[in-house]
Amino acid sequence: SSLNPVFPVGWQIAEMFRVHRGMNRSDAETEAVKLMERVRIPAAEERAGNYPHQFSGGMRQRIMIAMAIALNPRVLIADEPTTALDVTVQAQIMTLLKELQEESGMGLILITHDLGVVADVADDIAVMYCGRFVEHCDVRRLYANPAHPYTVGLIDSIPRLDQKGEQLYAIGGLPPSLTDLPTGCSFNPRCRFATDQCRTPGAPPFIEVEEGRFAACYHTEEVLNRERV
Ligand code: SF4
Repeated sequence: SSLNPVFPVGWQIAEMFRVHRGMNRSDAETEAVKLMERVRIPAAEERAGNYPHQFSGGMRQRIMIAMAIALNPRVLIADEPTTALDVTVQAQIMTLLKELQEESGMGLILITHDLGVVADVADDIAVMYCGRFVEHCDVRRLYANPAHPYTVGLIDSIPRLDQKGEQLYAIGGLPPSLTDLPTGCSFNPRCRFATDQCRTPGAPPFIEVEEGRFAACYHTEEVLNRERV
C-alpha cells in the first residue's frame, strides 16, 4: 500500500537511481531489474512494467524491500514488515531480509509485535512499553528467562502446543494513554510484581542487571527467580 498505484514498479524502483545517483532512465531501469532479481521476483525484466495491483501482497513487499536496499544502506529499519501477510509469505519475507542482511552486512532493525518473527531473526531484542525501553538483551537469554514483567507477560501470552484445553494467558488491563501515564512505573497497574515502590513518582532506571542485560524494573531479581507457569 506504500507503492504508487499509477506507476509501474520498475519505474518506482528506478526513481531511486535517477534521483539519488543521477542515472539516466535506461541505466536506472536496468538497475531496477537487477534489484527485482535480487529480491527474487520471478521474470523480473517483464514484471518491471507491471503496476502494483498486478502483484500479490508478498511480491509488493519484495518491491518495497528492493526500494529500501537500492542505495546500499548501512542500516535497514523494517517497521512491521510482515503485517497483513499470511504466515507462509511472512516466513519468505523474513528469510529474504535475513539473506539480504547477510549478503550486504547491513544492520537490520526490526520493529514488530510478533515475538515469533523476532526469535528467528534477531541477535538482540529491545522490548518497549509506553515508548520506553524496558528490557534489552540477547535473544537467547531474553526468551529463556525474561527480566522484566512486561516481557514475561508477552512471552507467556504466546499460545503453546502443550497447553490444549486451557485458557490462553493475556496481560490484564490495557496500555495507558501516553498523555496520562500512571505515577511511577508505567506498567504498575498491570504488573503482578508491583509494590508501593513501583508507584512512587519517577520511572525505574534502565540499568544493567546482568552482564549485557538491561532492564527498567525495581524487582528484576524476583522476576528472574519467579516460579514458572
Ligand atoms: S518496576 Fe514494579 S511495576 Fe514496574 S515492572 Fe517492575 S515490578 Fe512491575
